[in-house]
Order: sequence, then C-alpha cells, then structure tokens
Amino acid sequence: MSRDICGRFAPTPSGRMHLGNLFCALIAWLSVRSAGGRAVLRIEDLDLRRCPEEAHNAGLLIDDLRWLGLDFDEGEGVGGPDAPYRQSRRFSLYAAALEKLEKLGLVYPCFCSRAELHAAEAPHLSDGRVLYAGTCRGLSPEEIRQKSRARPPALRLRVPAERIAFRDRLCGNYSEDLAAECGDFIIRRSDGVYAYQLAVVVDDAAMGVSEVVRGHDLLSSTPRQLLLYRLLGLPAPAFCHLPLLVAPDGRRLSKRERDLDMGELRARYRGPEPLLGRLAALCGLIEKEEPVTASELIPGFSWEKLKKEDIAVPPGLF
Ligand code: GLU
Repeated sequence: MSRDICGRFAPTPSGRMHLGNLFCALIAWLSVRSAGGRAVLRIEDLDLRRCPEEAHNAGLLIDDLRWLGLDFDEGEGVGGPDAPYRQSRRFSLYAAALEKLEKLGLVYPCFCSRAELHAAEAPHLSDGRVLYAGTCRGLSPEEIRQKSRARPPALRLRVPAERIAFRDRLCGNYSEDLAAECGDFIIRRSDGVYAYQLAVVVDDAAMGVSEVVRGHDLLSSTPRQLLLYRLLGLPAPAFCHLPLLVAPDGRRLSKRERDLDMGELRARYRGPEPLLGRLAALCGLIEKEEPVTASELIPGFSWEKLKKEDIAVPPGLF
C-alpha cells in the first residue's frame, strides 16, 4: 500500500446514507484502491452539539459501509495515526489553524444576523447565494467591544480580489473570483462551531489526503479551500467532483427520499452485490448489469468509463 496516495470518504451523518452518498463512497474508494493507496473514513459531525442524532447516524453509516464491502485502512471504527476521525473531537486543530490565520491579520468578527445577511438589499449572485457585503470588515476595536456585549460574533476570512483556479480531474478547469463571487466567508460560527471549509482543509492536510473525490455540489467550495491551503502553508490535494445522481426531473436525490436510503436498500437487496452491480452499470463502470462485490470492481475501474454528466436514476430502478 502506498502511503503517498490517500483518498477519503468524509460524510456528514445528518441522516442515513443515501444512494447518492453510496455512489460517492464507492467511487472515492475505487479510485484509491485501484491506485493501491490508503483509504480513510472521516466523520464530519461538526454540528454534533446541535444535532446529537449524528452520533447514532455515524454508527449506522459505519455498519452500512461494512455491509457494502467498502473497507478503510484508517478512520472512524478502525483507528489510525491521525485519530480522532470525528470532526467533533478535532476542534483544537481547527483552533490552531484559526490562530494562524488571525496572526496573518485575515480574520475579523462579524455580528450580522441571518436576517441582515439575507436582506433584500444584500447582493445576490445568479445562483441565489448571497454575497457578503463586507458590513463588519472595517469595524473599529471600540465597535467590536460594544457589539460583543450584545452577541458573540462569527469569524470571517478576508478574501483577496483574486481568481483562484484549479483543474478538476472530471470537470476540467474551474475558477472563481472570491471577492466577486463569494465574499469574505465564515470560518467559525457565532456558536463556536468551526466551518466545514476550515475543518475539511485542516483534516485533509493532517491525514495526508492526496485526492478528494466528492459530489459536484462541492465544486464551488474548492477555491475557498485552496485559498485556505495556501494561507496555512499546507499542500493541496487533487480534486475530482462527481456527477450527482438526480431524479428523472433533474432534482437532486436527497436524504429526504427515504426509499433510497441504506435502511430501505438493505431491506430490499439481500446482499450488496446486486445493488453495487446496478449502480456500477448506471454510472458507466460496467457495461452489463450483474451482481458484483466492491472488490471485483477495482481492477476494471477507470475515470474514463465514469459518466461525466449528472446521472438520472429511473423511477423504481432501485
Ligand atoms: N461532509 C461533506 C458531505 O457529506 C463532504 C465533504 C467533502 O467531501 O469534502 O457533504
């Protein structure tokens, strides 16, 4: 096994694993296994205090991955040199990274409420996201002291007026002008919970992850993460953003669709092989649908075979 090649599956246990998560886990796993690398399982339960059910979901998730035959060399449920593998237990590492960014003078407190941030006059991007207008960017120390009495602030990172570009293995070139398309972003919420953007960078770097394989919905997070890698002096991994599994009407499959969650799927399929075979055929990895184990898919895995566009799941197929 190569220690230099390392991939990971990093689910947020906000519900039972779903067909879309299964697809992502399978491809991330096949990519690293076919390259002889190390596979890591990290649970992204940053919100554990607000969502205590995530602990229970994480247990189900580990069991579902085992049932599917997706094994991990390091991670939650396995252990390893970079434990703990739950983000809820890694806050001290995020605090150290935050301190580094603070020393660079790039972090400032933001006291804006949700309502203020989403006000009608706030600049909206074409995709509906709200661009942070920089309201708290220039507060004086006195203003900060005063406002802190009323409410604890979130912390934001000052972004440079710069286009950050990278080449995605599946999606090709992608870039974003952070100042114009994203604005200063939150790295710690007002309740003290670190933002996904910071935690994922700190953890992927600490765990030596060399390739990030995840859903296309996170493509536009990548420039923010690349900025954090640079500011923290950490090496960035390669990125591969997968097509999403969508309903026939183009809607993204979500955890709300219980009929495609692992509880339902495990009840319907006696073992993982027919389920994996159906999924592998749907996403282009095998030509003819037939029952397969996850391991049997390793030798034939290639990125060229995988569909590049979102994949419609015909009703009733699973
Ligand atoms: N935890 C994120 C999710 O479940 C994925 C993070 C990542 O792969 O970078 O959506």
